[in-house]
Amino acid sequence: MTAETTTHTPTTYEDLLASVSAGAEGREILDPATGELVGYAPEHSVEDLHTAVEVAADKQKAWAALSDAERCDYLQRAADAVDAAGEALAELISREQGKPLSGPGSRFEAGACSTWLRVTCSYDLSEEVVVDDEQAHAVINYRPIGVVGAIGPWNWPAMITIWQLAPALRMGNAVVVKPSEYTPLTVLALVEILNSVLPEGVLQVVSGGREVGAAISTHEKIGKIMFTGSTATGRKIAESAAATVKRLTLELGGNDAGIVLEDADPAAIAEGLFWGAFINTGQTCAALKRLYVHDSIYDAVCESLTALAGQMPMGHGVDEQNVLGPLQNKMQFDIVDELVKKATDSGARVLLGGDPDYEAPGFFYPATLIADIDPDNALVVEEQFGPALPIIRYTDLDWAVEQANKLEVGLGASVWSSDRDRAVEVARRIEAGTVWINNHGGLDPRVPFGGIKQSGYGVEFGVEGLKALGVPQVING
Ligand code: NAD
Repeated sequence: MTAETTTHTPTTYEDLLASVSAGAEGREILDPATGELVGYAPEHSVEDLHTAVEVAADKQKAWAALSDAERCDYLQRAADAVDAAGEALAELISREQGKPLSGPGSRFEAGACSTWLRVTCSYDLSEEVVVDDEQAHAVINYRPIGVVGAIGPWNWPAMITIWQLAPALRMGNAVVVKPSEYTPLTVLALVEILNSVLPEGVLQVVSGGREVGAAISTHEKIGKIMFTGSTATGRKIAESAAATVKRLTLELGGNDAGIVLEDADPAAIAEGLFWGAFINTGQTCAALKRLYVHDSIYDAVCESLTALAGQMPMGHGVDEQNVLGPLQNKMQFDIVDELVKKATDSGARVLLGGDPDYEAPGFFYPATLIADIDPDNALVVEEQFGPALPIIRYTDLDWAVEQANKLEVGLGASVWSSDRDRAVEVARRIEAGTVWINNHGGLDPRVPFGGIKQSGYGVEFGVEGLKALGVPQVING
């Protein structure tokens, strides 16, 4: 069977939005930068979910019966369709989620979608011989699970959805996606683009609220859930998925620490530190959320970072000059605002920001740097998920490592130094799924990514991530 494009791919913003918008009875989606209407998303019900799962379970059989090469052919063509619609998708992401077109923003997010699809097709999935000697012969193959449920957050809605569905589809599963109720249009649009290429029914989206997510986690015909979101929701999903013994990949919250050693060059690392913390205006799971800096270079790091952060334009995402956008929603704005107030009330020093204009339209919170803060202040120990970085002074490296490790979460971390070997030594002592050296948050589709402790379990990306969307079968004898 060859991959045939079944329908037209919408490639302009207007066409793309029109292809997914519901009538005015749907969920109203407002631009977080202006409060203006973007469109209406359909409000699907639990009943709609049941229908989608039935169709997916049926269509999965023919999809699984294709060869791996045939499925990859579809996915490569789906990547081409994403590229063709890339600019339209980026504009929709900017208007709905808020991140700017420019910088590491919505164009970057749309581009990552096609990259991840292509790279997911590049791994070798051929049968592995586990033992082959006079006594035994055993081989292992990965087979599809069936129907996979993909539940996502609102911060990187398109990219995270692709992370979940690309390996699931390559492995021969059908996928039912449940986007965040804050950013459904982006995910509906992405699925529309992919479905202009994919066979009907193997990829579906159910745009509903928490009750739809909860129904996915108990559904007896869903064999695996890919979940990205908060630790609190991840716990609920793990509990309710237990009854049907679903496979789970849980990518949950984090509170990543960065440690700057005394031999780092403050000017050279400023840009990496800035984007590590402020990418997507801080609304990134593996962003730098607390920075520990050695006393000997503390003031120099604070100065370099403040000078750089102060120049970064923030505004409406569709204006090309901006590299920082608003927070996506009022709830997140209030969390950041409250945490910064707790920090300043405690006597911590504001280097930059901390003074939002409450009267202005949109959920803009300025890039904020807070120095000389108590290491147990709420802004340090709770996930702010926004543009407010606490900078903590240390003199004893053992203490800094202890601080980095003291929380229940362990998603990412970073070590900054001019001496790579020394940085690696420190990195090995940190409890996190990934520790970056002189960088924070850089992701690569070939490199497995996942959290430890209460940041979740399982990895995405790379061949390890792909195998997590299958079930192993051993043929022994
Ligand atoms: P959230 O947990 O509130 O929501 C995530 C999704 O879960 C949404 O689609 C929501 O509708 C759904 N949901 C809510 N209740 C549910 C339930 N009982 N059963 C099933 N689904 C349910 O998270 P959020 O606010 O959208 O995202 C922010 C959080 O996500 C942050 O903590 C962030 O660190 C984390 N995150 C983690 C990663 C990662 O890769 N580890 C990536 C991005 C975001």
